[in-house]
Amino acid sequence: MERDNSGSRRMNVRCCVVGGGPAGMVLGFLLARTGVEVVVLEKHGDFLRDFRGDTVHPSTLELIYGLGILDDFLRRPHQELRTVGAFIEDFAVTVADFSHLPTHCKFVALMPQWDFLNFIAEKAKAYPQFHLLMESDVTDLLAENGQVAGVRAKTPQGLLEVRADLTVGADGRHSTVRAKAGMEVMDLGAPIDVLWMRIGRRPSDPDQTLGRFRAGKILVTLNRGDYWQCAYVIAKGGFEAIQQKGLPAFREGIESVAPFFRGRTQELKDWDDIKLLSVAVDRLRRWSRTGLLCIGDSAHAMSPIGGVGINLAIQDAVAAANILARPLLRGAVTDGVLREVQRRRELPTRLTQGFQVFAHQHLIDPALRSRAPIRRLPLPLKLLQQFPVLRRIPARMLGLGFRPEHVRTADVAASV
Ligand SMILES: Cc1cc2nc3c(=O)[nH]c(=O)nc-3n(C[C@H](O)[C@H](O)[C@H](O)COP(=O)(O)OP(=O)(O)OC[C@H]3O[C@@H](n4cnc5c(N)ncnc54)[C@H](O)[C@@H]3O)c2cc1C
Repeated sequence: MERDNSGSRRMNVRCCVVGGGPAGMVLGFLLARTGVEVVVLEKHGDFLRDFRGDTVHPSTLELIYGLGILDDFLRRPHQELRTVGAFIEDFAVTVADFSHLPTHCKFVALMPQWDFLNFIAEKAKAYPQFHLLMESDVTDLLAENGQVAGVRAKTPQGLLEVRADLTVGADGRHSTVRAKAGMEVMDLGAPIDVLWMRIGRRPSDPDQTLGRFRAGKILVTLNRGDYWQCAYVIAKGGFEAIQQKGLPAFREGIESVAPFFRGRTQELKDWDDIKLLSVAVDRLRRWSRTGLLCIGDSAHAMSPIGGVGINLAIQDAVAAANILARPLLRGAVTDGVLREVQRRRELPTRLTQGFQVFAHQHLIDPALRSRAPIRRLPLPLKLLQQFPVLRRIPARMLGLGFRPEHVRTADVAASV
């Protein structure tokens, strides 16, 4: 790293990845593994943030297996979700069964995302080509001859300029990169927001059941050992009205949908204990410009519905690494090569977002509006209970996605 006359630090790499989430960390790891000099810039000082999803899907576990690090991964604390269930009023339903997937791990591993990202960082750091700079907040893109030539970031040591043949925006659904590049976003709309909170867990609590629906209320509970990470789904923009009704009414709502929390919601002492996460579903018309590519939520923001956004982001990273490693090593990343990544990943993105928008409109929105208890299960859920073989279909969609990607061997450098 050098310093220029103004005191800014400068760095040159083949690839600069903005954002150390699932998409950015996996891409950085896979590129470094093939010999590409890559830096990942993450604006936070660590990965420890409460609102990260905890799901490591069978397709990601298969990737980890392909990289020869599965045993090490599975030694870290996690839980194995072999079926996905929900409570609809008093009906216990099973929606997906992963036991027939053609993968080594026939389950979703539930692991706090900061543990997953720390694991990837640890493995990536074994490669000298991998650089991870935390507390590096990318504020602007560098332009040269009309194309993107890197980024400018604020760091505790002052300004940093990273020059790169390729810049990748993996900075999530509020992407600075895509905004600075002026990329056109198609908003598909999301009628929901999520309130995120922790409630203590007791040994007598029921097992992990992801969704609970009761008379217009939807609660998702993730077991994080000594506490439940809870996601309470509300109508978009509805938080203010909920606050006006007061905290006791809110606590009562949580207890009515999950009665085992009765008495424990007092742990929510004020509104600061409850975080609003706004949900968006959108996608870029074009994922790339000369010198720049967006992947993961930066290219297509995902709703939490189905818990598939992390999977899709990682699959983008695998496809991008497979397509880009050779051109990056040769110093020949053309617009055509960048468009190939979008061509490969656009169909699974459209299908997944189509499924999320359908679920918002036909399941979640009507469920939030209904005040009366549901007396009969909707037909698709009834069929899933009567014919367990059908549970393999949602298991494939949730566990593998529409186009699972497979990591290529690391000996790309030798063939360049
Ligand atoms: C409430 C909620 C719950 C969800 N739950 C799940 C779930 O359980 N399972 C699931 O599969 N999906 C879930 N999703 C969707 C999932 O979170 C996303 O699809 C997924 O995280 C996308 O990964 P990503 O790497 O593209 O982006 P992100 O995970 O958003 O990572 C982006 C990273 O970039 C960093 N960054 C941002 N701006 C900058 C900058 N300017 N400079 C440097 N770094 C920057 C951020 O700090 C972050 O680390 C949920 C979404 C929401 C809204």
